[in-house]
Formats: sequence, structure tokens, C-alpha cells
Amino acid sequence: MSRKSPARRLLRGSERDKVAADLKVRYEAGTSVRALAESSGRSYGGVHRLLADAGVAFRSRGGAQRRDPLAGTAQRSAALDPVVLASGVGLRNAADRGEGVFATRSFLGGELVLVGVIEAELDHNDAHASQIDEGRFVRHGGLMPKVNHSCDPNCGIRLNVSGAHDLVSRFPIAAGQEITFDYAMRNYTIKHFPARCQCRTPRCRGRITGWKDLPSDRKAAYQGFVAPYLLDLEGRHTG
Ligand SMILES: [Zn+2]
Repeated sequence: MSRKSPARRLLRGSERDKVAADLKVRYEAGTSVRALAESSGRSYGGVHRLLADAGVAFRSRGGAQRRDPLAGTAQRSAALDPVVLASGVGLRNAADRGEGVFATRSFLGGELVLVGVIEAELDHNDAHASQIDEGRFVRHGGLMPKVNHSCDPNCGIRLNVSGAHDLVSRFPIAAGQEITFDYAMRNYTIKHFPARCQCRTPRCRGRITGWKDLPSDRKAAYQGFVAPYLLDLEGRHTG
């Protein structure tokens, strides 16, 4: 990825203040200097200077209350570490839709929002199952099963090294927004869900459908944010 170029760019005046203020918010929400440097494409020293100029009170290295959500993700998530699983997101009441998962900090576009962990392999599909191949369904652990569907979601699916689904932001997300993905990004067909969708976005399809029944413009819009086996399945069924 070409994350290197912005690091070389000099910031000045109001732009610098804006960047520093954004970094300050994220640092104070628990993100480490190193993670901020990685996600913003700046050097560690550059981020540190911006934070210092913004008046941040730095945490001591050993005394940080929260851990870097990106460091050692695969190993820690395998142990169902609740800190990692819930970093930057939390469970809240989503009005009339029951519980939902909400951002507790802002995310950039393309950022890892929720680490997926496979809790169990299932021998059948059900309302909380994730499809990982034709006829193979798993149950994700942590907060993943609590993430609501949207027909215009702010997150998409990315397969991680364990074969589980991570949620990745499709565009920047502000703190306090509900985290959503389209269940069609994960399941080829949807059989065990209430017929009516309640996402209330202007793009709502009216009912929650699987990838098989997703309109082609949505398939195009979700490119890069879809579980890869869906594309294999589609190829097998249409090819
Ligand atoms: Zn909808």
C-alpha cells in the first residue's frame, strides 16, 4: 500500500491543527502512538510531535490502560481477548432493533474495526451463522454476532488469517455511529431472518437478501469488502 507518501508531506497552519486534533482524540480513546503512525502513514516521531503540540498527556509505556488493537491481533484474538475484540467498539441499545455495536472512537476508511474469531463450526445454517464456503457455516464469537445488517453499511468483510471475518470500514466512521455490514457480504442466501429489513437507509432493499439476490450495482459497490467464497460460489453457479 502507498501509505508512505503522506508521511513526507509537510503540514502547516490550520491543516496541521486539524490533523493534530484528530490524532489527539484517537490517542485519548486508547490508540497507541505506533498504531496512529501506521494508520495515518506518518512517522512515530511525527505523530508524537503533533500530539505533544496538541497538548496531549502521554500515557507511560507500561501503564497504558488499553492495548494497541492492531498489535498481535491474530494471536490475541484466538484467545478471545475481550479487550482486542471490543477495541474501538461497544455494545449498545440500537433503539427498535435491539442491541447493536457502536464505534467508541472514530475510524478512517479501510481500518480494521472488529476482529473476527470463529467460535464454532456448525452443521447447518441459522440466523447467527456466517457462511465460509458452500455448505459450511460457523459461529463467530465476541461482538460479531451482535453487529446489525444495513443495506448501506459502513463496514465490509475481510477474511483474516484464521479464516474468520474481520469488519473493515468502507469509509470514515465517527465515534458514536452504529457499526453495520450487509449480510449479503457474507451469506450467499439468507433463509433464517425476518423478512423485513429495518436498516432505514435510503438504499434499503426492503428485505435482507443474500449475495445471490443482491442487485448488481450493490455487488459493484461492495467490491473488496465481500467474503471471497461468495465470488467463487457465484462463478460456480453461473459459470
Ligand atoms: Zn435495509
